[in-house]
Amino acid sequence: MADKKKTDGEQLAEKLLSDHKHGGLTVSDKEIKAGNKFCEGYKKYLDAAKTEREAVIEAVKRAKEAGFEEFERGKKYKAGDKFYFVNRGKAIILGVMGSLSLDKGVRLAAAHIDSPRLDLKQNPLYEELEFALFKTHYYGGIKKYQWATIPLALHGVIVKGNGECENVNIGEDEKDPVFCVTDLLPHLAQQQMKRTPAELIKGEELNILIGSMPFKDDKVSKKVKLNIMKILNEKYGIVEDDFMSAELEAVPQFKAKDVGFDRSMIGAYGQDDSSCAYTALEAILDVKKPAHTCLTILTDKEETGSDGNTGLNSSYLKYFIDDLARAYGLCGHNVISASECLSADVNSGVDPTFSDVTENMNASKLNYGVVATKFTGARGKSGTSDASAEFVGRIRKLFDDNDVLWQTGELGKVDLGGGGTVAQFIANLDMDVIDVGVPVLCMHAPFEITAKLDIYMAYKAFSVFFAD
Ligand code: MN
Ligand code: MN
Repeated sequence: MADKKKTDGEQLAEKLLSDHKHGGLTVSDKEIKAGNKFCEGYKKYLDAAKTEREAVIEAVKRAKEAGFEEFERGKKYKAGDKFYFVNRGKAIILGVMGSLSLDKGVRLAAAHIDSPRLDLKQNPLYEELEFALFKTHYYGGIKKYQWATIPLALHGVIVKGNGECENVNIGEDEKDPVFCVTDLLPHLAQQQMKRTPAELIKGEELNILIGSMPFKDDKVSKKVKLNIMKILNEKYGIVEDDFMSAELEAVPQFKAKDVGFDRSMIGAYGQDDSSCAYTALEAILDVKKPAHTCLTILTDKEETGSDGNTGLNSSYLKYFIDDLARAYGLCGHNVISASECLSADVNSGVDPTFSDVTENMNASKLNYGVVATKFTGARGKSGTSDASAEFVGRIRKLFDDNDVLWQTGELGKVDLGGGGTVAQFIANLDMDVIDVGVPVLCMHAPFEITAKLDIYMAYKAFSVFFAD
């Protein structure tokens, strides 16, 4: 049957007005299927890389399998050569040498591999009312009450008095015990429920329950604490003072799961920013003989403001590019100034239950594709790099020309809040940069939700950027 002829108004609207649709209506079944398959690997990554250290180990493993070699300062790499550089076990740069001279700039994808969690204090172990507990200091921005009464696993390292380093990962194996921050029963919470939500569980109440059996000896006062230390000494060879030189991080124990009857979404801990770290990692691992040199940087410390020698407010990226450049007699800052970056970080997707915090003409939505966020920041765009119209235009054309489903986004209504990414630190080096990432529900909660289609489109976005 022939279509009815469109009216002038319909034709004009089609030509002039924007018409963004749910990706499920516009993306081919074949691509949706490819996205679902891609996300099987993503779920495995989520379970294997819950902390920045584990994300680096996982990236090195995958990089070696893909033919990447450890970076050698001063080496002149040939087009197609693959290399990686690890910064202090908590950040990594992976690169594929391009055929063009480095002074044409590099194509950089930058994601962070740290996520909100509970860090143990340096003197964490105590006994109270015949329970053993760990004191914590939360890392990153969290709603503290969300971290009580969920199973927690403990990840990290302990550097012993003799300098030896012990890796810790307990709670992830099915046979492992887990740990828990306790909360009051509703029956006795009348006073607690009068607190403001920010204080429902206070920072000093984020204490992790780790044991309840005493060591049988009447001569000892803290018997449960001693019994825990005995177990830890047998397992790791540590004494209590070794906690002072440890980094132990409590993270949600849950595994990544499909969400929904239609399995269209993924629920997991740490998708801010594992969703972008994994897609940027896969994209660099799949690069073949690019024109521009391509780099993926997976960095630490974003959730605490990017300061510190493994965060992107430090000089390690700048130094690395300078090392690359100098092998060719080039100046590092010339390479940086000619470079382009996709700052790979998540955005907050519109939540059907809390859609009053987003301005829904400009907020990102799940299943509408990867989000390009021109600016972040808060209160009059403070603390953002704000990508130029020219650079947004270039990325827009790149995505459109290569069938990358994408949308724009912002972080909530004006003056309602806001946030930042690593984009500003890269822009401050004199590089063109825009935030590109995945829309997320329940961001910074122990269980965050993304859509599989958006994850796949993020991978596609980084891939076409590298191939360009
Ligand atoms: Mn993030
Ligand atoms: Mn975050």
